[in-house]
This record gives sequence, structure tokens and C-alpha cells, in this order.
Amino acid sequence: MTETIDIKVTRIKESKLPGVDFDNIPFGRIYTDHMFMADYIDGKWQNFEILPYGPLELDPATTTLHYAQSIFEGLKAYKSESGETLVFRPFANFERLNKSAERMCIPEVPKELYEQGMKALLEIDNDWIPEEVGKSLYIRPFVFGTDDFIGIRPSDNYKFMIITCPVGSYYAEPVSVKIETHYTRAAKGGVGYAKTAGNYAASLYPAKLAAQEGYQQLIWTDGQDHKYIEESGTMNIMFRIDDTLITPHTGDSVLPGITRDSVLKLARDWGYKVEERKISVDEVVKAAQEGRIQEAFGTGTAATIAHIKKIGYEGADYELPPIKEREWSNKFLKELDMIKYGQAEDKFGWNYKL
Ligand SMILES: *Cc1c(COP(=O)(O)O)cnc(C)c1O
Repeated sequence: MTETIDIKVTRIKESKLPGVDFDNIPFGRIYTDHMFMADYIDGKWQNFEILPYGPLELDPATTTLHYAQSIFEGLKAYKSESGETLVFRPFANFERLNKSAERMCIPEVPKELYEQGMKALLEIDNDWIPEEVGKSLYIRPFVFGTDDFIGIRPSDNYKFMIITCPVGSYYAEPVSVKIETHYTRAAKGGVGYAKTAGNYAASLYPAKLAAQEGYQQLIWTDGQDHKYIEESGTMNIMFRIDDTLITPHTGDSVLPGITRDSVLKLARDWGYKVEERKISVDEVVKAAQEGRIQEAFGTGTAATIAHIKKIGYEGADYELPPIKEREWSNKFLKELDMIKYGQAEDKFGWNYKL
């Protein structure tokens, strides 16, 4: 049996819920009534608290603001037809959070703290979980160093927090992507596999340059030679070339996505040919020229599947087949949605019922 933690609860005086238009929810702008917070002080997690969502007061020397000793996760809760709350693979996120923590010298978050904190928050803000299929509640756990010290060393004190926001039906528009051969997202031996703040700050400028050329996203290549495909924006990437599903293996420069893992498990279960291996830019460009790329897509929690319609490389653009003809990725999307909303059998045990 896991230990039960004591959570102090301070409820909001008046819920913001009546003012929310669930038919037009912008991503990541509207937060629920409450948030969960815990402190790491004197080598111990303590002060477990749920309180009204609101600003934090931070010392200007707070180490995280300067040196990004900060990690996060992203997952979603769904409402089933029968009104149950289902959280998709929360313990996969938990394990990844602690892998990121280790790399960033952040103390491990105990399972009971993560699980009970999240559960208590989802219970108190349960009415915020949209009931309509397609909509969900995005959950953002994060941990950051709080020492007010601008010397460089691991912080002694931390905050673990969870905030949540309702998100609308995220239909991802198919994207044009550019294969990036100059800038690097993650290097061998670096922090690419960790969900840590600096990775995202570092990707903004190359993405901005690509946007000026008309591409919504980048395909990142290896930091050493820019010869091998790694990820697409903040998603993992997959190609169906002829009748094989190919995706780069993870290693230390690719974020091990949970959507990636779920898609691979479905694909193998359905008897599709799957290869997790190095995939070179040359191979992708050649396959595109020969019309052998049937499908290409990103995988991630926000969109589940984001179809790639066009790939740009060294000034040339390669158009990929129309979205409606993409049998495999459309099937992954549909099946994952059905599982998440409790409409298909959860044979892998992915759903966590509140
Ligand atoms: C979060 C993330 C992903 C996708 O992970 P999921 O667990 O599927 O949401 C992929 N790449 C990067 C860089 C990410 O930050």
C-alpha cells in the first residue's frame, strides 16, 4: 500500500467556470480554478497544497529564471460516455518526469505525491473536464529550482506543481516541415531526452527562421552531421515508406514520447511491419522522390497525430499523399481516441480511472 499524503485544500471563492466558452477554447490560455503545489525543503517533499490558481511570488534571483533547472510533463484527462474520468498513461509520464529529474539534478518526485496530488486536483476541478469527444483536460506537472542564488549549482529547494487547462478539439492542420541541417536541437550526451525548459528555448530561433520560409515546423537532424532524422518540432516523427512504419530510435537526443510508444504498440499488435532505427535524410528524400512515402506524421500528446503534407530540403519541396488516403495514421488516431474516451477495449491497460 502506498502512503497517503496530507493535502491542505483552499477552495476558490467563486469558480471561473461559468465564464468559459467551451466551444472556443484557445490552447494553454485558460486554467482551471485550482493548482497543486509541494515544496522540497531540507531534503524532503512537504507542504502539499491545493489552492486557487494564481501567480507565484519569486525572488528575482530564483535560480530557474537564470539557469533553467526546470522540467515538465504533459498528459491529458478525458471524460468517458458514462462520466468517468480517464487519464491516459499517467505513470509513463511519471517515469519520464523522474528521468528528466535525474539528468537535471532535480530530486525525484515520489509516486504518491504525483499520483495523489494529480488525483486530488482532478477531483476538485472535475467539472472542468470537457464532456464532449475531442475535448480534454491538459495536465501540466512541473518541477523547478527555487533557491534565490545566482551561483551555478543544483538548487537546494524546489517546487513541484500541477496546473491544468481545458483544451478544445485539437484537429491538427497538416504541416509543411523543413529538414534542418544547420541548427541543432539536441546533441549526443546532451539533454535532448529530458523534458527540460532549455530545449524549447533553444528551438525557438531556428523555428522562427523556418516560419519565415513558410514552414510550420522543423525536422530535427542529428547534432553531429545533420544526416539522420530525429524529431519533428516537439513531436516524434514516423514515416510509412512502402509498407513499413519507420521511426528513429530514441537514445539520448530524442524525447521518448508516450504517443510514439502507443502508436508503435498498436502497429505491432496489428501486425504492421515496424522498424525503430536510424533513418537518414538521404533515405527520406530518395523515398519522397520515388513516391514511396505513403505517410509521414508527428506524434505527441497535444495533437496525437499531426500529418506532414510537405517536406522541404535544400530548397526543394516534396509533396506527400493526400491526408484522406493515409490509412495507417488515420487508423492510429481513431483507435487512440476511442481508447482514451473509453469507447474501445483498453487492452494495454493505458487508462487510469479516477
Ligand atoms: C513531449 C515531447 C514529445 C512527445 O511526447 P508525448 O509523450 O507523446 O507527448 C516529443 N518530442 C519532444 C521534444 C517533446 O517535448
